[in-house]
Amino acid sequence: MIRTFRAPGRVNLIGEHTDYNQGLVLPMALSQATFVESAPNPAESLYVYSEHYKESREWPLGAISQLEPARDWGDYVAGVARELVRGGYRIEPRRLFIRSTVPEGAGLSSSAALEISCALALAADQPVAPLDLAKLGQRAEVEFVGLPCGIMDQYVSVFGREGAALLIDCLNLERQYVALPSGVSILAVNSMVKHALAQSAYRKRTEECAEAARCLGVGSLREVSQSTFETAADAIPETARNRARHVIDENERVRRFSVSKDPVELGRLLIESHRSLRYLYEVSCAELDFLVDTALEIDGVHGARVTGGGFGGCTINLVREGCEARFTETVQSAYIRRFGISPAVYRCVAAAGAGEITSA
Ligand code: ADP
Ligand code: MG
Repeated sequence: MIRTFRAPGRVNLIGEHTDYNQGLVLPMALSQATFVESAPNPAESLYVYSEHYKESREWPLGAISQLEPARDWGDYVAGVARELVRGGYRIEPRRLFIRSTVPEGAGLSSSAALEISCALALAADQPVAPLDLAKLGQRAEVEFVGLPCGIMDQYVSVFGREGAALLIDCLNLERQYVALPSGVSILAVNSMVKHALAQSAYRKRTEECAEAARCLGVGSLREVSQSTFETAADAIPETARNRARHVIDENERVRRFSVSKDPVELGRLLIESHRSLRYLYEVSCAELDFLVDTALEIDGVHGARVTGGGFGGCTINLVREGCEARFTETVQSAYIRRFGISPAVYRCVAAAGAGEITSA
């Protein structure tokens, strides 16, 4: 029997680079998702085919607990399979066919969508607690793919809900659903670039935050309030101090964003977040700054910022309802004039979290 599993991508409204600092984030799951069709496999192996890459990978079932990374897309699947086996789950011989509507490498988390959809398909009828599913996906990415990411992407791909954003406290993994503001649209603009230093810079940022926490004598930056930070900041070397200031202020912005209904205030928080990511956290780039600056000059735009890890990928834009078409046209033509590439624009609609698709 062929079964189909779906896991959504996500857009992060605010709370950037806070998750691996045990902080607050406010993402929502997207209608763009990864779909895995799972069919029986006559061979004693796990076979996967990616429609996007038009490539397959295959691993003998007996070898899965010992797999090593190959540094390509198959690692996300192999990593999840290895985590399942190590967690005591049984993997049946299956053929998985992967297709996705999440743009890849654009900061909308095609990686978590891939991990969670494959994990569901591979666990099949063995129940996995939702939180364990998210943690397993994160472990696959940290330990197998080798990116020291936080839990946000996998968590929201599992727990997303239609019409709502998800306030996640990465310290205790508690969640709260937050209604989206009315009268506005959330649009993501894809810069269509991903600069090569994205991965190494991400790793470096995690180290710089850990250094700041050490200087402050705390386990994570989450333990530090804005006022405590101001009195102790001098003890931290400048770069680590700037990173920490971003994280600590950003947590506060998430708190304010999640309780405000005023589009003007929400927009202002996005603008502040972008400025902080640009100057303090230094994860923006010319293309993203251009997209944000251009957006902010368009009538009906309340705010804009980079979303996701940075160094390319998407911006998100809070746009007054009715102004979407002109926004899209203006941003696209300006970006083409400046960079010679047409940026894709996606309307972000909050969708449900991952699960099996059952045909009626
Ligand atoms: P993001 O999560 O923001 O999209 P990442 O760099 O974290 O960007 O993850 C992108 C990687 O995930 C791709 O380079 C690829 O290895 C893998 N991936 C995502 N979608 C697919 C897919 N449909 N098929 C195969 N691999 C995919
Ligand atoms: Mg990713």
